Amino acid sequence: MIPQDFVDQLLSRVDIVDVVDRYVPLKKAGQNYLACCPFHKEKSPSFTVSPSKQFYHCFGCGAHGSAIGFVMEYQGLGFVDAVTMLAEGIGLRVPNERVANPEASRKAREKKLSLEQMTQLASDYYRRELKSAPTAVAYCKGRGLSGEIAARYGLGYAPDGWQNLENVFPQYQDDKLVEAGLVIHAEDSGRRYDRFRDRLMFPIRNQRGAIIGFGGRVLGKGEPKYLNSPETPLFEKGRELYGLYEARQAIRDKNRVLVVEGYMDVVALAQFGVQYAVATLGTATTGEHVRKLLRHADQVYFCFDGDNAGLKAAWRALENSLPQLVDGKALNFLFLPKEHDPDSYVREFGAEAFEQLLEEQSLPLSVYFTRELCREINLSTPEGKADLIRQASPLLAQIAAPALAFIIKKRLAELAGVEVDEFDMLTTGKKPAERKGRREYRLPQESHRQINTPMIKKLIKWLLMNPAWAGDVRLPDSIALSDELACFAMLAERVQEHDQPPNTAQLMEGLRGTPYEGLVDSVLQQAMQDPDEFADPSADDRQLFQDGNAKLLKMLRSAQLDRLKLKDQHEGLTPEEKTLLGELLRDLFSPSA
Ligand SMILES: [Zn+2]
Repeated sequence: MIPQDFVDQLLSRVDIVDVVDRYVPLKKAGQNYLACCPFHKEKSPSFTVSPSKQFYHCFGCGAHGSAIGFVMEYQGLGFVDAVTMLAEGIGLRVPNERVANPEASRKAREKKLSLEQMTQLASDYYRRELKSAPTAVAYCKGRGLSGEIAARYGLGYAPDGWQNLENVFPQYQDDKLVEAGLVIHAEDSGRRYDRFRDRLMFPIRNQRGAIIGFGGRVLGKGEPKYLNSPETPLFEKGRELYGLYEARQAIRDKNRVLVVEGYMDVVALAQFGVQYAVATLGTATTGEHVRKLLRHADQVYFCFDGDNAGLKAAWRALENSLPQLVDGKALNFLFLPKEHDPDSYVREFGAEAFEQLLEEQSLPLSVYFTRELCREINLSTPEGKADLIRQASPLLAQIAAPALAFIIKKRLAELAGVEVDEFDMLTTGKKPAERKGRREYRLPQESHRQINTPMIKKLIKWLLMNPAWAGDVRLPDSIALSDELACFAMLAERVQEHDQPPNTAQLMEGLRGTPYEGLVDSVLQQAMQDPDEFADPSADDRQLFQDGNAKLLKMLRSAQLDRLKLKDQHEGLTPEEKTLLGELLRDLFSPSA
């Protein structure tokens, strides 16, 4: 965990204009800066960066965030990596609560850098060797690969022989060669030798483009067909995806990413014009993989061979995806005909046919999910239906996207011949109406509906863009707020906690990982309609914000009043509630309310 204080400090020291400008050249336009959006295709610029708010927003696609958010999105980095990168850029050291010893973490980083230099040198060597290796060149040509594609993916050749890397590393006894996964040290004999021998080499890059490991493919008949670098300080198989660095632009342009099983598939697809493919590295697709993929594109396609191993791998991918799902993004599964892998398919039929297959034959996750669950169940018997519910419930519970989870649940309920409510009851053991025992008041449904959500969204937007206005927000006590209202109240409270109001970026970063993160995201996407909303606010705007707040307070009080009156009639009131009722009535008749 990186402490929130540090994130605040970082955001007050970096300038988002500098950060974005490094990747996307910005032009000054009034108070703000403009560019064509790097996250969607556009001809006239609607990507706006505000130096005063330290925040960006695209009025075309709704992408927005702080400097940290930009680096995460643009570079495809996780939060900690993005913070570290920004902090290093301005000479700040990231305090990491889990790392007790800062000296040790500095050393670990230095070691990583020196291992990266080694893998880079090795890769340069393999690339040079490819030119003078006729069998390897013939193999590439046989696969239809051009010199251009081989260069883009940095293909190389590890020659036959035991200690060829001594040519590059005269210090062949250096233990770091073993740590980088380039050299194997045999414990029993004490001998050292190159890990990769007589193989076509595929360098694996991380999201910065640094080489962190290799995949090596045999050219002839040998075993294993594919050999990967072992797990090293640089290379964690469960996190990395082969080809992601090379495919980034195409993935962004198409808003689509294709996950295949082998490096050769990625390179062959790119050669034939499908540039947005990546591969897992000899492991099942992990949740971390899926999270990374969903950050890069809204549409993720998994492509598996149609054999048993492929089916198993697909189900594993689905299981690991469930906790990462997001409404508005889609996962799809494509199974190729049994005799094909993507490499052979695209070589035989071409990119157009492959993409047509992808679009027409892929199963959306929801369909694949229900189909697989029902595959071995006899739904014509009550026992079978009960079995379906039993098997589905632990999986459904993991789905993080509420709308999608509901749709799948509804479909399963239909198949099992029960209502959705009954399905819930059967799987959670709870009756739907049984939730009770909250101390706070819940607003009755009708009055909840009167509180107009677009207005609250507007208030949230104004508050986010102008945190200093939080002083205008007054909300009644003893009221349970939910959804947008709760979010609005929490934001105001957060600002009020500070002596100096935070800027927009700091306020937003404080929401990361909270249940409000997604809500605020969608509110901003809907409520920010026009670039003027990013300009400094006028006195009129402030007045509208104050009026909106007064109106909201009034509505909440009257809803609370109705609720208390109703309870008084039916159940009677506790002494606390009586006091509250008295106060509300007094406010109602006082001229200031
Ligand atoms: Zn955009």
